Amino acid sequence: MDSNNNLKPIFSGIQKFSSIDYPGELSMILFTGGCNFRCHYCHNPNFVLPEKIKYKQNQGILDFLNLRKDTLDAVVICGGEPTIHGQGLIDWIKYIKSLGYKVKLDTNATNPKLIKQIIDEKIIDFFAIDYKASIENYQKVIITKIPELKEKLFTSLKLIVESKIPYEIRSTIHNELHNKDDINQMISELKELGIDNYFLQNFVAQNNMVGTIGEGIGTQTMLKKFKEILKNNFKESDVRNLD
Ligand code: SF4
Repeated sequence: MDSNNNLKPIFSGIQKFSSIDYPGELSMILFTGGCNFRCHYCHNPNFVLPEKIKYKQNQGILDFLNLRKDTLDAVVICGGEPTIHGQGLIDWIKYIKSLGYKVKLDTNATNPKLIKQIIDEKIIDFFAIDYKASIENYQKVIITKIPELKEKLFTSLKLIVESKIPYEIRSTIHNELHNKDDINQMISELKELGIDNYFLQNFVAQNNMVGTIGEGIGTQTMLKKFKEILKNNFKESDVRNLD
């Protein structure tokens, strides 16, 4: 078993049970602190804004991981953005794998170097990637300026497709940030990268968000029309969070 002696405190939150966040498996969710994006619609300011982040002590997380290793199948690591923790994230994944869990990593795909290392070391079982907008409109959604954004995103996505590790690509849609043309452009960008599954998610308003944005009224009507378009373009697809 990998040692837990050198694990850095990278987690800010824990959800002890989920039956929906790892396809087909019972999981727990660990939320890393910190993110290089500031998405307008982000629901997790406590894991994103430096003044709100509180890192948890490792011991409670280690105890829970060990307690549930025979009853839960998987651990979902999301954030924030897990890959900003570099080797700290890799060490945790290795430890969690050593307990017998499957591991799913949710990422914004801006760290291709780390994603390559994770793939090469064969320590991940599932990737979930948020594709925020068409490349031309990405900055409209994420607020922060990311250098070489297109190159980073496309390199990560290609690596994941080529790795043959199961993955899911999804986009949260808000009608102040995306229009029909953007969504069509996103579909064609993803298809060109060889992506074979794609899920659109209707924005759901909450009180506590990172950016300032309206309720997204009208988004559903626009999204309903994409159910069929997705079906015609991807092996697996859906539009989520519709009434
Ligand atoms: S929604 Fe955006 S800001 Fe929030 S954690 Fe994900 S990438 Fe970071």
